[in-house]
Amino acid sequence: MPDSNPLLNWEDFPDFPAITAEHVLPAVREAVARSTAELEALEKAAPATWHGLLVPLERLSDRVSRTWGLATHLHNVRNSPSMRQAYAEAQPLVVEFQNRLGQSRPVYDALVALRDGPDFPFFSQALQRAITLLARDATLQGVGLDPDRRERFNAISQELAELATRFTNNVLDATQAFALILTSPDEVQGIPEDALRLLAGKARPRGHPLATAESGPWAVTLDLPSFLPFMQHAARRDLREQAYRAYVTRAASGKGDNEPLIRRILVLRREQAALLGFGNFAAMSLARKMAPGVGEIEALLRTIQDAATDPALTDLIELGELAAAGGQSEDIQPWDVMYWSERLKESRFGLRDELVRPYFPLPAIMQGLFDLIRELFAVSIEPVPDVPAWHPDVTYCRVTGGDGREIAGLFLDPYARPEEKRGGAWMDELHGRSTACAPRGRDVRLPVAYVNCNQRPGLDGEPSLMSFQEVTTLFHEFGHALQHMLTTVSHGFVAGISNVEWDAVELASQFMENWCHQPETLARLARHFRTGEPMDKGMMDKLLQARNFRAGSNALRQVSFALTDLALHTADPAGLDPVTMAHDIARDILPLPPLPEDRFICAFAHIFSGGYAAGYYSYKWAEVLSADAFGAFEEAGLADPAARRALGLRFRDTVLALGGGRHPMDTFRLFRGREPDPAALLRQEGLLPRAEDN
Ligand code: ZN
Repeated sequence: MPDSNPLLNWEDFPDFPAITAEHVLPAVREAVARSTAELEALEKAAPATWHGLLVPLERLSDRVSRTWGLATHLHNVRNSPSMRQAYAEAQPLVVEFQNRLGQSRPVYDALVALRDGPDFPFFSQALQRAITLLARDATLQGVGLDPDRRERFNAISQELAELATRFTNNVLDATQAFALILTSPDEVQGIPEDALRLLAGKARPRGHPLATAESGPWAVTLDLPSFLPFMQHAARRDLREQAYRAYVTRAASGKGDNEPLIRRILVLRREQAALLGFGNFAAMSLARKMAPGVGEIEALLRTIQDAATDPALTDLIELGELAAAGGQSEDIQPWDVMYWSERLKESRFGLRDELVRPYFPLPAIMQGLFDLIRELFAVSIEPVPDVPAWHPDVTYCRVTGGDGREIAGLFLDPYARPEEKRGGAWMDELHGRSTACAPRGRDVRLPVAYVNCNQRPGLDGEPSLMSFQEVTTLFHEFGHALQHMLTTVSHGFVAGISNVEWDAVELASQFMENWCHQPETLARLARHFRTGEPMDKGMMDKLLQARNFRAGSNALRQVSFALTDLALHTADPAGLDPVTMAHDIARDILPLPPLPEDRFICAFAHIFSGGYAAGYYSYKWAEVLSADAFGAFEEAGLADPAARRALGLRFRDTVLALGGGRHPMDTFRLFRGREPDPAALLRQEGLLPRAEDN
């Protein structure tokens, strides 16, 4: 009986402990079959009312996405060989269903009829947006094309997917292929103990099965956990140069050369954009984003470039001076930058993690975060025992509004479990707020979020002690979770984080992160877990100042990547030399130009095999939004509780409540009273003087 499957059969919470890998494929098969049957019925009925169309459409797509979302979550936090296999087997069914749904001509025609019909202006803004975005996404999937063009469109999508996979594999292969084997202690001078352990581990499968951290051999490879500590700490300049040259020429020659793939990808993207009536691929990418056009993005990036150029030059001069004082007679080269930056950072802000952690015990940080959320947004978060989760360390929390009514829920999975849980920190949803999908007898389904981190658990009866980075990460993920949980939109397609534009989605998360860097809030948070003593001012100042270390250099690097991405996706690919274009842009922007043989674009997976094509600017775009939103609190005076509360409620009622239900520029204007101003970010990063510094 399919309904006994615990992946499918649940209302408020799944019975997590009961779900096993064996449930995945039957549940996905069942969900897809039922939803496909409903889709076919809907296509036949071709309803003419929003209710007749959107309610069944939301229910049938929610069934698949909720079942698949749960499987994905368990794949992330309770992985096993059997789970991995079940997941891989079920995935094609989901992809096929989503393509079928996204390219349904009858559904598209019904959406367009609603969008262009006489009732549209009388719909709520969230409903208008749900209809508009569903029709837009179908258009961008080629649903409106005549059969010949649509066939060509789909063939291009297929080829682009294959090219993306080959691009990724070439980068992976090139990253794996290189290893610099070091055998004498002189060659690993300066490298810390934990990195040596990692490099010895890399040497073992490479013909040195007895390699140890103490006596080697050590293998430097080009994956970041190995490459970064080597570049930051290896005193031997000649070896850094070897590793660096290998790194910037990955996937740039021989059989695994990505350059021909890049040329082909750019041609196909241009053709696909043209089929949909766009002048270039950048315009097609921006059709789904908050930024109005390439011109506005370039203007923002040039503003950042102008402010960052002198500070970046100063950064380079400082490194040169430090290197000269350290006995290096040659000018700074690209393979020196990370090494001397690290020395400078150690001398200026050197704070070992171990000194900081006792001030950030997880239970107190959680309480501090919940207190801040209550003060700002007038909602309470409190742990509820006895909600079954996927691991005993997971806590379920109930979120209630000012009137005590339950509005949302949250599962927090704080600790690393390398044997079954993926790395990093991320927020995801169990399900979103929805009236169409309300459980029987209730008006609305309440949103439930997951926040997953990878902290180390407490040792010897001590609480888990967090690094400052882990604290800011927790705040970041909570920002995403708040936008999901505090939504007031009840159309599932645009509730919470659903359908928030790619370049606006980090607004809420980075906004919350900003509080960790705010001196009064940090002072409240940072207390020694044994004595309750506040952190001393010297240590706190170092934490706060380290944020803007090399801000100019980092900003220019991001501007250079973003402008390269935009230029490649705007120019006519016929006769374009992508490598030369990337070099020209980098030389124009960076104080230390790339090496002539640098082929970083051959490993620029963000834009050639990830989701950032003509979208790399999103990092900076969202930083402007979050810095400017936080700036409103700074202007109002962070010490004034009433002003802070009023602004907090306005942030809750705009950015957090409206989520995908309004265009993010409208939402931002509602909160800030004007359009975003990049000066806020430049001030935050120390690239423009702050008002109080004048
Ligand atoms: Zn994020």
